[in-house]
Amino acid sequence: MLDFSHEERCYHCGACAQKCPTGAIQMEMGNDGFLYPEIDEEKCIHCGACDRVCPHLNWEQKMPQLEDRTCFAAASTINEQYKSASGGVFYSLARYFLQQGGYVAGCVWDDTLTARHIVTNRLDEVERMRGSKYVWSDTTEVFREISDLLKRGEKVLFTGTPCQVAAANNYFGKKENLLTCGIFCHGNTSPQMFALWKKDMEAKHGKIENVIFRYHGLDGNDNAVQITFQSGKKVRQEINENRYLRGFFENYFGSQTCNDGNCQYKGDNLPGDILIGDFWGYKGDDIGKLTSAVICGDKGQDILKQICLADSLKLEQSLKKDIEAENPYLFKGRKPNCKRKEFITIANERGYLAAYKKLGTMSWYKALIYALKLKRIIKR
Ligand SMILES: Cc1cc2nc3c(=O)[nH]c(=O)nc-3n(C[C@H](O)[C@H](O)[C@H](O)COP(=O)(O)OP(=O)(O)OC[C@H]3O[C@@H](n4cnc5c(N)ncnc54)[C@H](O)[C@@H]3O)c2cc1C
Ligand code: SF4
Ligand code: SF4
Repeated sequence: MLDFSHEERCYHCGACAQKCPTGAIQMEMGNDGFLYPEIDEEKCIHCGACDRVCPHLNWEQKMPQLEDRTCFAAASTINEQYKSASGGVFYSLARYFLQQGGYVAGCVWDDTLTARHIVTNRLDEVERMRGSKYVWSDTTEVFREISDLLKRGEKVLFTGTPCQVAAANNYFGKKENLLTCGIFCHGNTSPQMFALWKKDMEAKHGKIENVIFRYHGLDGNDNAVQITFQSGKKVRQEINENRYLRGFFENYFGSQTCNDGNCQYKGDNLPGDILIGDFWGYKGDDIGKLTSAVICGDKGQDILKQICLADSLKLEQSLKKDIEAENPYLFKGRKPNCKRKEFITIANERGYLAAYKKLGTMSWYKALIYALKLKRIIKR
């Protein structure tokens, strides 16, 4: 039976709870806002089902080594590429699956602006999966649903962070009708801290309807955060003006499992038939304003080539070293922040902005300029 007394070992995926045949495991929110399994020993029949799916215990994914996978620069040719975080490979892939009569699993904002994995065969819901939500996405209900679809012989594309893909691989086993797509990942953050940031913003400016962390503008030239309020007002901020994202990048409230030495999904143990990320510094032929980096094995490559033939994706073979040079987090985890506990305690007691004001690194004059700008935009 699982023994998870150490926070830094759990990926919060909920695979154990969904697999348990007696419902002995419940996912409960820890002080840091992440979900952890709680086991009711009286209900446990010691069948070992939870052990067999856990991505911490079953971390070796037996994927081809990075050396033996192929790399591409890629860009979607479907309109409105700029709704995606980078080259829109996810969207081309997902559309292909829907056209084949299949399903797509990925992360959306739900009605309460909580990041959550859903599985769907509807294009409007796939649209909601586009773009990076820089917060941990709740997968604690989706594995069971996907399992039923796979058993019925449906095709499913599962997308998520490498640890979520590992949980999916463990949960479903190798299946011909399942394709997994992992995103390059430098770590995740607490949904509770995101909710507290949102609460503080709403107290000042009214209800938030949507947050796009990487808004590119209609011409693809921007790289900003766009917050849409229920009143219809839209606020755009530079990425380092947004105090939630600054807290994320400074690692005040990331999962401890993402820290260097804890995340087991790095280097040669990167799961996913296809891996997609940003292609910073791409110097090859011009294939689109925003370009993704893609790493894949044979199964992924076959599908990408079919999508190319259908004209919804441009692919350009690329060098692994060019992708790796700009993406150090493919190999190592984040550095821990020694003020994490203090930040989370203050945020839980007095709110996100109070914690950031006390511990964050945005200087007072930048904060003042930012506050004035925000006030002006909202007034307008
Ligand atoms: C937490 C996080 C960390 C990342 N770190 C890096 C990095 O270090 N380097 C890098 O190159 N790229 C990173 N990315 C990935 C990158 O920003 C793009 O998502 C990726 O390049 C795919 O882009 P796209 O244009 O093809 O599709 P997009 O439309 O931008 O991506 C949508 C895909 O991302 C998935 N997704 C969105 N939010 C989440 C989430 N919270 N959890 C799980 N899946 C999610 C959706 O399910 C969908 O599959 C990160 C993304 C996230 C969410
Ligand atoms: S299966 Fe997932 S949620 Fe359960 S203990 Fe393992 S990592 Fe944590
Ligand atoms: S850094 Fe590792 S543990 Fe953290 S979300 Fe990414 S894959 Fe999962």
